[in-house]
Amino acid sequence: MRDDLKVFARLLGLSRRYWGWMALGALLSSVTVLANISLLAVAGWFLAAMAVAGAAGLLINYFLPAALIRLFAILRAGGRYLERLVTHEATFRLLSELRVWFYERLEPLAPARLQLYRGSDLLSRIQSDIDTLHHAYLRVLVPVLVGVIAVAVVATVLSVYNSRIALLVLSLLLVAGVAMPLIMRHAGDRSGAWVVETRAALRATLVDSVQGMGELRVYGAAQRQAQQIEHLTRRINAEQMRLSRLSGVSEGSVALCASFAMWGTLLIAITLVSSGALQPPELPMLALLVLASFEAVGPLPLAFQKLGETFAAARRVFELVDAQPQIAAVHTPSPRPLDSSLTLRGVRLRYDNQGPWALDGLDLDLAAGKCVAVVGPTGAGKSSIVRVAIRFWEYQEGEIRLGGHDLRSYRPEDVRELIAVVSQDTHLFNTTILENLRIAAPGADEEAIIRAAQTAQIQDFIAGLPQGYGTYVGEAGVRLSAGQARRIAIARALLKDAPILLLDEPTENLDPQTEQAVLEAIDRLMAGRTVLLITHKLGVLHNRVDEILVLERGRIVERGTHSELMRGGGRYAHYQDYLVEIRESR
Ligand code: ADP
Repeated sequence: MRDDLKVFARLLGLSRRYWGWMALGALLSSVTVLANISLLAVAGWFLAAMAVAGAAGLLINYFLPAALIRLFAILRAGGRYLERLVTHEATFRLLSELRVWFYERLEPLAPARLQLYRGSDLLSRIQSDIDTLHHAYLRVLVPVLVGVIAVAVVATVLSVYNSRIALLVLSLLLVAGVAMPLIMRHAGDRSGAWVVETRAALRATLVDSVQGMGELRVYGAAQRQAQQIEHLTRRINAEQMRLSRLSGVSEGSVALCASFAMWGTLLIAITLVSSGALQPPELPMLALLVLASFEAVGPLPLAFQKLGETFAAARRVFELVDAQPQIAAVHTPSPRPLDSSLTLRGVRLRYDNQGPWALDGLDLDLAAGKCVAVVGPTGAGKSSIVRVAIRFWEYQEGEIRLGGHDLRSYRPEDVRELIAVVSQDTHLFNTTILENLRIAAPGADEEAIIRAAQTAQIQDFIAGLPQGYGTYVGEAGVRLSAGQARRIAIARALLKDAPILLLDEPTENLDPQTEQAVLEAIDRLMAGRTVLLITHKLGVLHNRVDEILVLERGRIVERGTHSELMRGGGRYAHYQDYLVEIRESR
């Protein structure tokens, strides 16, 4: 319960900018509800008064009640319209702000803190979980305020007529508006959280199935995947049936309270009319007023039942928002780099506290303007060097200096200003070639973009496309070949124009011919920059590098120029298959 209040208070805090809107919405909604109650009460009085007057052959002034009825009808319709306009506008603006707020907090968590989350789970959080939060504002916050205002007004009006009626109705309004919502909150709690989690799991399975459709068909596993989807859907449906039954019970009990209140009022009012304490037309007036007043609390039990789902969604959102980024933000200005050097001394990194060291006391000197290569088998720790250098992952021991200053004294985003990365898995967004290039330099003009494309040797290809730079590259760039995608990545790095360049297996997965063309583009990119070239293809190194480091299990086991290492007869000299590649590239 206390935890619920904390979550709700936090949701309230997030909506601070919209409190005025919410208050206005609650006011308009109260006017609407009270207008409806008054409409029924006055209509009840009017019909009975007319009947009584007709029977007695008297004339009564019907202009005032008729005008009141019209006024209340207009207030009810107009109030509902305006209230919806105000509360929905405020809530949807708030939700779009929350989505941006969530994304901004998510970004610093990537990739270290997010690696355990599935992409589709993050999508569920940013999309459906945040959508679910509308419930807290539209169905709980505003209706609770309306309930409080309307119940206070109704109880006051009734107490003017008769305190017993007022007391009876107030108690039943409290049962329907407070006790029932609390019971429903309790009953819906477990399912709410469960439904949110299972819906996210279903979404994850669906995304996986769509992405892996080819594999599923090749291995004949589509049937099994379909069964799993069906299983999850069935479980969600079953739980939703349970929730629907609960809603039925809650709606029924509110109706029951309303009927009890009306009958109780009638019974008391009949005795009052007989004793002359109440005018006969006031009897249907009070009965209808009481019946209508339950409209003010009617939506609350259902709203509270669904609160379990809303809070579960809110907790999932807050869990990520509260996660500490692995790389702490730096609030002081970054130092000015003295040059474009990068030095690692005794650097140790492991991905989890108990795991093996991925970098185990690494020393690396990349002097300004030089090109150093790191070679080694898969899993040696080559890509880990890139991750620590660009502040994607925190290293536990040792020191890294960038441009003569401690890497940790720079703001992470400033580090990434100084370093460009070209890797085998550069992500291309499902948008145009132009937009994919602009990511590297949002303000770049057309001339700069064409120049970068020319240097990356992709300009002719782009110019030859019917839509040129406006061509859509498809999901993750599927409409481009591996070589074209790699050249787009090179053009991006050129546009970024950072002094330090990290090339992480830049020609991986390319056929020899394409590799040669991409290497030509890379040579142009490397000109005038400090470069760390990571590869396990020795053919790529030929004539390009000043020094070669051989990395194994996170440590440098050999270092020197190509000829020194060959003469040394160590590990490097025995990478026979790589030597074949070198010969071929000559
Ligand atoms: P390389 O680039 O030389 O193939 P990596 O630097 O990618 O090697 O990986 C070095 C070691 O760290 C490997 O044992 C790998 O399994 C592990 N590793 C890499 N990335 C992660 C990660 N995100 N989480 C846990 N372990 C990782």
